[in-house]
Amino acid sequence: METKKIQKRLFGTNGVRGIVGKDLTPELVLSIGEAFGTMRKGRIAVGRDTRTSGETLINAVKSGLLAVGCDVTDCGILPTPALQYLVKDHFDGGAMITASHNPPEYNGVKIIESDGTEMGDEETLKLEQRIFDQSYSPKSWEHIGKETIAPYLIEHYITAIANLFPDKPGMGITVVVDPGSGPACATTPQILTRLGCRVLTINGVMDGTFPGRLPEPSPDGLKELADLVVSSGAEFGVAHDGDADRAVFIDENGQFVEENQEFALVTDHICRQKKGVIVTPVSTSQMIEIIAKKNDCTVTYTPVGSIYVARTMRSLIDSGHPVIFGGEGNGGLIFPDHQFCRDGGMTAAMMVAILASRRQKLSRLLAQLPKRHMKKNKISAARGPAILDALKSAYSHGITDERDGVKIFQGNSWALVRASGTEPLIRIIIDAEDEEHGRTLLDELMETIQKVT
Ligand code: MG
Repeated sequence: METKKIQKRLFGTNGVRGIVGKDLTPELVLSIGEAFGTMRKGRIAVGRDTRTSGETLINAVKSGLLAVGCDVTDCGILPTPALQYLVKDHFDGGAMITASHNPPEYNGVKIIESDGTEMGDEETLKLEQRIFDQSYSPKSWEHIGKETIAPYLIEHYITAIANLFPDKPGMGITVVVDPGSGPACATTPQILTRLGCRVLTINGVMDGTFPGRLPEPSPDGLKELADLVVSSGAEFGVAHDGDADRAVFIDENGQFVEENQEFALVTDHICRQKKGVIVTPVSTSQMIEIIAKKNDCTVTYTPVGSIYVARTMRSLIDSGHPVIFGGEGNGGLIFPDHQFCRDGGMTAAMMVAILASRRQKLSRLLAQLPKRHMKKNKISAARGPAILDALKSAYSHGITDERDGVKIFQGNSWALVRASGTEPLIRIIIDAEDEEHGRTLLDELMETIQKVT
């Protein structure tokens, strides 16, 4: 089980990311292809999101893989979870060109293992070392790989999700889908239509300049989606990030559904049907634990990052534990009956199934969830390690969790202080039983932190 984080040089929490032409060049992506193709031989699937830099970078990664002798299947533009699903069933590995939720000037590479999960820390360190040492050698003409173009494979992914809901739970349900001009333009509307839904779309044409909204599905960017949900009388709206491994929701009144509430609602639905373990990072709201306990289920915590959740789910299952669900409080949910990665299309389908089975409006279902007060704050990370050390010693008498940063428990509330995996920041999350206690806990923490800075 991966319970501790390892610091990597090139790769962050979810692959390599950077501004195209500045930190992320075709040369770097070529070397990632050569290094990965040397480590994992065989048939490698590649795909990309809709970014304008996607074509140049996918050609770079393909070139690297082919040069070291891998056969490459280009699956075209598709969501990251669609490529992961295809790799799990048909390939020896995968490389996805995407910068997920980052703005259009960014791009990146996610490396996928043969089981469809993102590459873990240990193997990523080996991959990085190979890139730095340039430890790969191009093959001679008779051993160079072959390329196959297979955009039609995306259909397997759509069918796989639709087949999990054979009762057509979407009959009579109208949904508005906002794929944000990303690759889910070709998947989520199709999945929900197969479930029987009436589907309307907004930002439903692929466009790497993201003319309608940025790839991060934030409440500010989803106002038009919210308006369309209300004016069309839809049951809900669903929006994806730039590679559609996450899904966020708008209720029938046009209100943004906070992602921990989304996670809690799906947890509640799954716990009513099955008993077992839910896996989530230490940063997720206590709502999950409360719902799990009420339903005789348990929660296992991991460091922050979907890769830790997915890999912990896998290893718990391998050691005989019944893992029923996993995910993060950011709209990234993992359904182990489907695959071991976050999947936005699958999450949208599950929301349809929940509404069909509960026969209540989304806002009413959300109102029945446990009440928690979450507060998020961030500060410059210049003195990050010193801050964490000061907090660890100040709270050493109480219960703490040091899986990722430091999590401090106080009664039924907690605070998490951790270094961000993607930016030079310290993030503070408070999850409190009531607003008052949350404020006191934050003030107390800030006092200790200010003594250090
Ligand atoms: Mg993403």
